[in-house]
Amino acid sequence: MRMMANRSRVLRFSAAIAGAALAIAFSSVDARQGQAPSTQTPQPTAAAPAQGQRGAQSQQPAAGRNTAAAQGAVRNAEGAIIGFTALAEIPGTPWRIHDIARPHPRVMTPGATPGAAPSDAIVLFDGKDLSKWAHSKQGQLSDASWPVKDGYFETGAGSGSIVTREKFGDVQLHVEFATPSPGRGSSQDRGNSGVRFMDRYEVQVLDSYENVTYADGQAAAIYGEYPPLVNVARKPGERQTYDIVFEAPKFNGPTLLAPAYITVFWNGVLVQHRRPVMGSTSATTTQHAYTPHDPELPLTLQDHSHPVHYRNIWIRRLAGYDLPEAK
Ligand code: MG
Repeated sequence: MRMMANRSRVLRFSAAIAGAALAIAFSSVDARQGQAPSTQTPQPTAAAPAQGQRGAQSQQPAAGRNTAAAQGAVRNAEGAIIGFTALAEIPGTPWRIHDIARPHPRVMTPGATPGAAPSDAIVLFDGKDLSKWAHSKQGQLSDASWPVKDGYFETGAGSGSIVTREKFGDVQLHVEFATPSPGRGSSQDRGNSGVRFMDRYEVQVLDSYENVTYADGQAAAIYGEYPPLVNVARKPGERQTYDIVFEAPKFNGPTLLAPAYITVFWNGVLVQHRRPVMGSTSATTTQHAYTPHDPELPLTLQDHSHPVHYRNIWIRRLAGYDLPEAK
């Protein structure tokens, strides 16, 4: 008997859920069918529905229209709902669910081929010249002297690292590289270069194809801190990609508010998943630490005396959600 009673309660509860679900379903059907709220003054951004749809609306129950009206549905010229003004608030934001006032993401054009720069990227190397790069000595910039060849450039072994003339904070970076072929040397002395954000935080470039070195110094390691999750090295001479999200550290005067974070896709594979960087990776034998610095600084490609090839390098400044729609 007790089981029967419990079951009966369960059934009643199920019926209540079903009823609620039906009400929700009705409400969403109402939204999809593009009913015009007959008792509501149209929103400034709302357009009147087409004639044929008006005819259909008169056959809808009044309760459905009231629901749509209460939700503040806003429609386009075709009568389709494109937003609302009165749904629930999204916690931690100034927006409501499906808020008609929320800015739409800016329209941009992806690169024509995989890996190509999208329309809002700054192209740092397009196969032709190193005009976006320079050598830096005591703050003095001079033209980058690394040799540019058939659509790529080569680290000018022994001529010093190069830095971008432009400074960056939070960025998405795409880099293509190839380690020297045939491979020569071993451990760190084999196809070594590096992508160093803000001239402090290095993602290692190295020939890690059948080349053993300390794990936190192999290719795609955050140098001296985190080995990559997996080793997806291609052979010497083969083109490889890094797609990196770098979040600059945040300081308030001498105080570190937030560390740098680095995410790396290596040849399309996630190998660093938003790792909190421990500090400048320049210290090779002591613990890494932060020294406060500017919010934007140049990006460095390291000269480690090995002729590593680079091509197709582009960068995007990262910005927050809900930017104004116009650039
Ligand atoms: Mg290096």
